[in-house]
Amino acid sequence: MAALKVVVAGAGGRMGAANIRAVAALGGLALHGAVANAAGMTLHAAVDRPGTAAIGQDAGLYAGIAALGVKITDDMDAALVGADAIIDFTAPGASVALAHKAAALGLVHIIGTTGCSEADDAAIAEAGRQGARVVKSGNFSMGMVVLANLVRKAAAALADYDIEILEMHHNKKVDAPSGSALLLGEAAAAGRKIALKTHSVRVRDGHTGPREAGTIGFATLRGGTVVGDHSVILAGPSERIELNHRAEDRTIFANGAARAALWAAGQAPGLYSMNEVLGLTD
Ligand code: NAD
Repeated sequence: MAALKVVVAGAGGRMGAANIRAVAALGGLALHGAVANAAGMTLHAAVDRPGTAAIGQDAGLYAGIAALGVKITDDMDAALVGADAIIDFTAPGASVALAHKAAALGLVHIIGTTGCSEADDAAIAEAGRQGARVVKSGNFSMGMVVLANLVRKAAAALADYDIEILEMHHNKKVDAPSGSALLLGEAAAAGRKIALKTHSVRVRDGHTGPREAGTIGFATLRGGTVVGDHSVILAGPSERIELNHRAEDRTIFANGAARAALWAAGQAPGLYSMNEVLGLTD
């Protein structure tokens, strides 16, 4: 089987650099103990927006590893010629535009971008119906996928406990609550068989009155260089359960995204979750 030819979109960003390192590691470069895959993958192209400092630089050197002989470009269409997959951690508008291209070309499209609107998500789902092999997740780490399953089960078992989700991220993050907090909220809502959209309380301020039973609350902290901390608190009479995840390094997201790309290459077009990638669809 030939190595998967991957385009890293948002190559100049924090996750872009981690994704370049993960793709290179799966292509055979020894790095951070990442596990090499039999089929492997190769960095086909690396793309960012026009005008960013990364344009024109070697992707490997930019990401802090050996030169890969691939210059970061701002020509998305040229980058996609001959590619198999896109690993995309950019911004909602960019991810929707890429989803259209992935559908037209029948590519694997791994989307880590957060902050997507309902309309963005609908466009991405449509791309899955039109030929793209999409895996979208608010968090690509294995630990977070497992945590979400634990949260779903705990929310079902403790049906009348109050659920609050607390997250903290670095001071450059532009959307809130985080995609991971929303993923955990969706898991809790699934456990309760309710819709998160109509049961979430995303902001509290001023005289709010008592907590409305059955809602799922969110609280957001921002500061420093925190990669991502999440806590799901189930509070009942005289006891409290806290389920926590601490991301220490972006490698966990990049490795999960690379794993999803290898998995999606063998699937029919459609929109998939990390539960499906990991076979956790009970
Ligand atoms: P960042 O700002 O460091 O990087 C984003 C990059 O995307 C930038 O270099 C930007 O120039 C580029 N970009 C924006 N629009 C573009 C376009 N039209 N074409 C090409 N490139 C474009 O941000 P980051 O910390 O790397 O995070 C990126 C996204 O990934 C955010 O939405 C973040 O929340 C999300 N994220 C998801 C996970 C996950 O596991 N799902 C983990 C970490 C971050």
